[in-house]
Amino acid sequence: MHRDAERAATLSVAVTALLTGMELAAGIWSGAISVVANGVQSAIDLLSALTAWVAIRQGSKPPDADHHYGHGKFESLLAVVQALMIWVTSFLIALEAFQKWRANLPVLYPPIALATMASSVVIGGLTARYLFAVAARTGSLALQADAYHLWADAGAAAGIFVGLAVLTVTGWQFVDSLLALILAVLIFRSGWQLVRQAMAHLLDAALPSEEVAVIEGILQTHADQFLNAHRLRTRRAGNRRYVDLHLVVPDAMTVEEAHRLCDAIEADIRKALPNTDVTIHVEPESAFRQQGLEDRTTFILGRYRREEK
Ligand SMILES: [Zn+2]
Ligand SMILES: [Zn+2]
Repeated sequence: MHRDAERAATLSVAVTALLTGMELAAGIWSGAISVVANGVQSAIDLLSALTAWVAIRQGSKPPDADHHYGHGKFESLLAVVQALMIWVTSFLIALEAFQKWRANLPVLYPPIALATMASSVVIGGLTARYLFAVAARTGSLALQADAYHLWADAGAAAGIFVGLAVLTVTGWQFVDSLLALILAVLIFRSGWQLVRQAMAHLLDAALPSEEVAVIEGILQTHADQFLNAHRLRTRRAGNRRYVDLHLVVPDAMTVEEAHRLCDAIEADIRKALPNTDVTIHVEPESAFRQQGLEDRTTFILGRYRREEK
């Protein structure tokens, strides 16, 4: 990574840690549950940064004797654990907010809560602006995501500031609980997004259709050298893609020629989609024709579509 980007990423973690500590302490001290909820949201950002760091280190470990496909799913597994923690937390916040609402407990020190939220807006907003600038200069997507996070949190802090100001002026104590409930819903939703992504990986979802189209396009450019391509399977684990397919070649083609063709196709796919493992199973035309319909139903391109039987 660019050195500027690395420094900015460290700053992002440091600022998030500062905001987390500040908001949790001030929220508990002042008795404002909405401030506590905002602190929890910052804590979750911090946890995400930590798990991303662990996942990148663990998930990118090369394949070994027991894990032939690498360790990419470790990342998805961590995301599920993280989501469970997020759901429990959002439930606890909602419960606390309900109880505070029902007992009509007041915010004890509104000025402390207000000052904390104002600082959160300023510190978070300025850091986000700086991160956006560095992300634009270095092209770092991870940094851009960090910047969006901080920006969204600063926005939430601004909303809470306004709500607490209304509470201070009008004495409507329920505003604090209402804000905390809204945050609890947002926190729950962020857990859901994590799980949806992780489940797609854990259940071996196919690659997005744009990427499958890229693979089919590459096969098309080699189509003059084989008779039929079928049974294409794609999936993703961590940051690696896995692609395998069957290729029907003329009986007279030598193993040497078939291998050269496969290597050329594999190289083209890897060039278009980096971090891809491609496996091609070669079949001679006569054997393919004897196999019957099963393989032909998964036709990709070439001769021998099902209708031609
Ligand atoms: Zn086949
Ligand atoms: Zn080879």
